[in-house]
Amino acid sequence: MALAAGCDGIPYHKDKNASSGWPFVITAENLPPGAYRKNQHQHMFAVAPSEELRCDENGNTYIHKRDPTSIQPILMMLSDELLTGQDFGFNMRDFSQPLSSPTHHFKLFTILLFFMGDYPGQGKVANMKHAGSRACHWCTHPFEYHSKGHSIATKTRRHLDPEDPFRQDDAFTTVEDRPQPSMRHHDETCDIAKDIDGLKGAQQEKAQKQHGVYGSCFLTLLHLFNLIWDITGDMMHLMKGTWGRRIVPMLKGELDQKRPKKPLTTYSDGNGGRTPYDAPELAAREKAFDLAKLEHSRVKAV
Ligand SMILES: [Zn+2]
Repeated sequence: MALAAGCDGIPYHKDKNASSGWPFVITAENLPPGAYRKNQHQHMFAVAPSEELRCDENGNTYIHKRDPTSIQPILMMLSDELLTGQDFGFNMRDFSQPLSSPTHHFKLFTILLFFMGDYPGQGKVANMKHAGSRACHWCTHPFEYHSKGHSIATKTRRHLDPEDPFRQDDAFTTVEDRPQPSMRHHDETCDIAKDIDGLKGAQQEKAQKQHGVYGSCFLTLLHLFNLIWDITGDMMHLMKGTWGRRIVPMLKGELDQKRPKKPLTTYSDGNGGRTPYDAPELAAREKAFDLAKLEHSRVKAV
């Protein structure tokens, strides 16, 4: 069975200062289109809270809001399960087969195809820093200052072939002759991460900044999983309906609360208008309808 996973930081309420967290979800990509993004076929396997209890100098506790510092501990647990799924399989039963059938019990093998996350999410999943000239997950395109706290990739024509008219023709503003940014690669990033794991203190920080990598990522232990190309965008937007209708209400504890029924205030007057609800009149109409039904069944019986 092919799996996809994803995570994102989401506020549980409209008030951004209220609780928020990072839910992690797995989907089964073998299911038919139209089913695999439905909430009943998604498995939320973890939620990392975006707050922690801290203690001040006087010994008083307070809630400190922040995104999880690292999601690698959760990915360690996930990778552990996925390694079992890919190497040994999970014991399953097929209830469409009789118990005596040799195919009633079977092993289900799983494989993770890709992981979804927005830009900060991709960085957290891959254990990459995503800053400076290493801001992009896939290439070394240097990002530029856009506004406070936001850097963006501008001058993207430099990704085109050197002879491309969009680069060379000055009808499109200026000639773009800067070289194409080099791509980032799985093996290279894994090697850099291993080196960084072995460093300590200021040396480690310097290397993290230089390469845009914090350290190793547990997902690289999985077969077929490419750290650079299999982390894709974006969960919240692909599964927006599910998140808005099911997962966020569940985290708020509202999922099982039934919406109160709107009281009936008007009924159709039969001429395209609405008549205000009047209890005795409606009861009389219902009685007349019941009598008509009774009469109809009598006629049918005769
Ligand atoms: Zn890029």
